[in-house]
Amino acid sequence: MNRILTIGSIALDTVTTPTGRSGEVLGGSATYFSISASFFRGVDLIATVGEDFPAKYESLIGSFGIGIKGLEKKKGRTFRWEGSYVDDLNCAKTIKTQLNVFSDFKPRIPEGYKNINYLFLANIDPDLQLYVVKKFKNSQVTGCDSMDIWIRNKKTVLKKLLRRVSFVFLNESEARLFSGESNILLAGRYILSLGPKFAIVKRGEHGAALFAKQGLLFMAPAFPLDTVNDPTGAGDAFAGGFIGYLAKIGKTDNSTVRKALLYGSIMASFAVEDFSINRFLRLNKKDIEARHNKFKKLIRP
Ligand code: AMP
Repeated sequence: MNRILTIGSIALDTVTTPTGRSGEVLGGSATYFSISASFFRGVDLIATVGEDFPAKYESLIGSFGIGIKGLEKKKGRTFRWEGSYVDDLNCAKTIKTQLNVFSDFKPRIPEGYKNINYLFLANIDPDLQLYVVKKFKNSQVTGCDSMDIWIRNKKTVLKKLLRRVSFVFLNESEARLFSGESNILLAGRYILSLGPKFAIVKRGEHGAALFAKQGLLFMAPAFPLDTVNDPTGAGDAFAGGFIGYLAKIGKTDNSTVRKALLYGSIMASFAVEDFSINRFLRLNKKDIEARHNKFKKLIRP
């Protein structure tokens, strides 16, 4: 059965949103991705945390059946991120990033992981993403995410990375920043010209667009919600639903990839309903299918 391997951040997040604030709660790109994907297929993660990482958070990650053989505990402090969504729910304003144990992290890939064929490089330093992707030359599906600081500071490395991935996930603002194009169609085309087979441009509450070599393949709105409490991790949860669905179905034809976009949107909609990963603690596969059916009815003409 297909398993998914991810590398990315595990973080202690401090987040302010229009409805509240959380302090040093479980976050990180690999955390959100793997928890979301775990509802579809088995996931293993590679990441590092410091000595201060609370044992209860490690058990929480484990409680989703996520493989943590590749979770390295290092001397020092866990990665920390502080962000605010007070001005714009669709776009995080980074207040502080402390890489801490991630600043000199050289991941060790456990033996049993070498043959995986679903790899997701969640948002982290692109040098680290490139280091890992080079070790998985035979991966059937490789996805990656990134963010504004890496696009600004490490564009050349990111371009090298894009040559090696089949799926790239970016926010609309990141796609514009990367491409220098304000038009989303041109931005999508530019990103695909760098190598990936598919580019997914996430547009927050406005949904997501899927680009393939032949052009724009599919667009869907976001699942409408009465209340968004914390948008943190929406992008990673989206990628988790998307790649999780692909691994479950075992295909990447256009129809499967379109359906994956709906599952990505659904998982993102759950993520934002509560702070940190809390909504996933009271989620089951039936809830996902129920929301998926509701969503399909909504977007059918
Ligand atoms: P998302 O909202 O899906 O884009 O991702 C939010 C998560 O990304 C948060 O939980 C943060 O801990 C994590 N994050 C923020 N900045 C970085 C960074 N520079 N590198 C890795 N992870 C980050």
